Amino acid sequence: MRVAVIGAGIAGLTAAFRLRLAGAEPVVFEAQAQTGGVIGTERIEGFLVESGPTTIQAANPILDALIRDAGLEPDRLPASKTARKRYIVRDGKPVAAPGSPADLVTNSLFSARAQRRALREPLIPKSRPAAEESVADFARRRFGPEALDYGMDPLVAGVYGGDPKRLAIRHAFPGIWRMEQESGSIVRALLQGSKDKKNRMGRGGMFSFRKGLGQLPEALSDALGDRLRLSTPVRRLERQGTGWIVSGDRLLGGHGQTAWSESFDAVVYAAPLHALASIALPEGPSLEPLTNVVYAPLAVTAMGFRREHVGHPLDGFGMLVPGVERSIRILGTLFTSSIFSGISSASSTFRSDVARAPARHVLLTTIIGGMRNPALASLPEKEAYALVLGDLRSLLNISGEPVFRWHTSWERAVPQYNIGYGKTLAAIERLEAAWPGWFMAGNYRMGVSIGDAAKSGEEAARRCLL
Ligand SMILES: Cc1cc2nc3c(=O)[nH]c(=O)nc-3n(C[C@H](O)[C@H](O)[C@H](O)COP(=O)(O)OP(=O)(O)OC[C@H]3O[C@@H](n4cnc5c(N)ncnc54)[C@H](O)[C@@H]3O)c2cc1C
Repeated sequence: MRVAVIGAGIAGLTAAFRLRLAGAEPVVFEAQAQTGGVIGTERIEGFLVESGPTTIQAANPILDALIRDAGLEPDRLPASKTARKRYIVRDGKPVAAPGSPADLVTNSLFSARAQRRALREPLIPKSRPAAEESVADFARRRFGPEALDYGMDPLVAGVYGGDPKRLAIRHAFPGIWRMEQESGSIVRALLQGSKDKKNRMGRGGMFSFRKGLGQLPEALSDALGDRLRLSTPVRRLERQGTGWIVSGDRLLGGHGQTAWSESFDAVVYAAPLHALASIALPEGPSLEPLTNVVYAPLAVTAMGFRREHVGHPLDGFGMLVPGVERSIRILGTLFTSSIFSGISSASSTFRSDVARAPARHVLLTTIIGGMRNPALASLPEKEAYALVLGDLRSLLNISGEPVFRWHTSWERAVPQYNIGYGKTLAAIERLEAAWPGWFMAGNYRMGVSIGDAAKSGEEAARRCLL
């Protein structure tokens, strides 16, 4: 069975890897010159920068199996214990966020009034299962306005770069939505869940790999060998009997391009939804609910400092900034060199090949833009550095100049599971039903995390093989 996989992000690579292991013949077509989609790692001047994601949430059986089968298990790098602590900015300062359901009423992030309101949460009736409520309305209804401003809003910024007034709770945070539907209360569900330590506030374990997250797409790509074709955008898809003709260009690095066309038994579409608009497709159901999906723009700025120039202890995963903190314009900052310090708990020796910053230095990775401030994602590099440095100086008490800077931006980074997203998901299913041998995978389907995108790839491969 020959399968064309369109897009070499984690969803497409997972689908192709699984198809190959099952004995099928996948060919992955990737528009860019590199594999991995938004996942990519570079080590520059001793600092390790990630172009998109920095960590993966642990305890995901699909990713665990993928990592094992790709031979990457020995390179898995757990986040340090320090990274369990997270900061939220309040009144212009990072304040430690609650680490467990019990902390919700003892920590200093929320006012006494907000804590009393949170205690009433188990008494709030659940919403109708068919309702499409926004994340903001859901948080305000169950926990009160402060929990929205200093709890849900920064979380939404961290995961989606999104707007809580537009995101739909049931699609954007299905786990939280199910807690309400099944237990009638988030607090009750969390208290039940916290008996299982791994589940504690969903923070149990994050990880990466020794040489960064880029190792995952690289290992999958290596396993695919010449079945992965880079710089090869797909431009046209035609149905031919029960199969497909896939056509496109091969970009020859500044020397023009050549056209190609090949026949396949099936297609796994694993490129972003907006890319559908630039591919000639067969007649079929309307693509508007797919191509209209909003993607948040994001920019990533990494900065390295000498340790003694940063006054904050950086004893955590990072800090998120609520939208109500109007004087701060960044969405959040990862304390990257604290998450992966290069110091193993067993030996306490410093490993410069694993650490994200050289000895006596720190690396901070800041995200700007999102639906809150979309224009900031496309700022020229120099202006982005000035904005980020200004905010970091005041939040983390930074005195000296950065010794290292790196910047990249994504015009359409993360799909927004907004109110009405149910129509998009239904349209995807209609398309799959209308076009036999057509399967869709990607971060627009089962969630935006790496684990969710990989799961959608695995699922597409499974259905393709039926
Ligand atoms: C800045 C940022 C930070 C993030 N942080 C985290 C994090 O810490 N943890 C986490 O779990 N997740 C994080 N995410 C989310 C997660 O990384 C992504 O949702 C996921 O990696 C997307 O995978 P994908 O395969 O669906 O899509 P993509 O990675 O977008 O891959 C799609 C591929 O399709 C290709 N393509 C497009 N058009 C064509 C065409 N016509 N022909 C051929 N190929 C085409 C593209 O070039 C691209 O390579 C982050 C995302 C961003 C942007």
